Amino acid sequence: MRIAVASGKGGTGKTTIATSLALSLADPIDLNPPVFLDCDVEAPNAHIYLNPDLKEQKIAGVLIPEVNESQCTYCGICAEVCQYHAMTVISNKVIVFPQLCHGCGSCSEQCPEEAIKEIPKRMGVLERGMTNSNIVFARGVMDVGEAMAVPIIRQLKKWVEPNSDQVVIIDAPPGASCPVVESIRGSDYLVLVTEPTPFGLHDLNLASKLADELKIPAGIIINRDNGEYNEVEDFCVRNNYPILMRIPFERYIAEGLSQGKSLIEIHPEYIEKFKQLHTDIKSLIGNKHETNRTIKR
Ligand code: SF4
Ligand code: SF4
Repeated sequence: MRIAVASGKGGTGKTTIATSLALSLADPIDLNPPVFLDCDVEAPNAHIYLNPDLKEQKIAGVLIPEVNESQCTYCGICAEVCQYHAMTVISNKVIVFPQLCHGCGSCSEQCPEEAIKEIPKRMGVLERGMTNSNIVFARGVMDVGEAMAVPIIRQLKKWVEPNSDQVVIIDAPPGASCPVVESIRGSDYLVLVTEPTPFGLHDLNLASKLADELKIPAGIIINRDNGEYNEVEDFCVRNNYPILMRIPFERYIAEGLSQGKSLIEIHPEYIEKFKQLHTDIKSLIGNKHETNRTIKR
C-alpha cells in the first residue's frame, strides 16, 4: 500500500505527519518494514526525525543529447520533436539546453543521421539506509543550481522496490506542481495536510484537484487546529473528504519539532492515533467508492 502525504503549501506539517505515521508503524522485528520515501528533493528534511543510516548512494540524472556535427545535416527534426524546447537548430548549428532536457530520448531516436549520442548529466543523488526503528528510508537530494526535480523523484521511486506487504509512505514536496504530481502518482491514498487558515484552505483546494485528476482517494488532516476557522471543515463536507485527524495548536509541540523531535516522541499518545490512521486509510481504500463516508476525530 502506498500512502502519499502532501500539502498545497509548505510549512503545514506534512513531514511531521509522514514521519509520525512511519514511526508508529515501525516494529523492530518486522520482516516487511515500512518504507519511507522523502520525495521533497529540493529540501529533504525527514531524516532529521527518522535519523537513518544512509549507507547506499546512487547518482541521479538524465541522458542528454550530444550532437556529432560532422554527421549532422541540420534538418531540424530533433528540435521539432523536442516537446521541452531543449534543442534548437540555427542554420548550421545545433544548440542543446541541458537545463531544459528531460532525457526523453526522442531526439536521438528520431535523428535520421544517427548524429546524436546520449551522455549522462548528473542532477542529484539518491541515498538509502535503515533507521534504528526499522524503517527503510530513501531520499533524493537535488544538486544546487539544478532546475528539475521530477527525474530525481522518478528515479527515487524506482530505486526502492518494496514488496506487496510493505507500507510505503511518500513525503511529497509542497505545492501542487509537477514534482508533487510525480511524487503522488501511483499512490493508493493521499493524505492532505492543511492548517485552518485562508491560505491553508486556498492551497488545500489546489492540492485536492491533483487527487481528483489522478483519481487518488484523499483525506484531510488539520494541523495546528485552534478551533477558530471552520472553512476547512466546510470544504471537506462539500467535497466529501474525510477529516482523518486533527492536531491541536500547542506551543510545546512546535518547540519539540524545532528541536528535531518527532511528534510521537513529543506526545507518545499519537502512536495509537497514527496506527488508527493507517487502519482507517486501509478501510477507506477498500471503500473508495463510498465517497460520502466521513471519519471525524
Ligand atoms: S535531427 Fe540529427 S541531423 Fe537533424 S539537425 Fe538534429 S542532430 Fe542534426
Ligand atoms: S532528450 Fe528529449 S528533452 Fe532532451 S533534448 Fe532530446 S527530445 Fe528534448
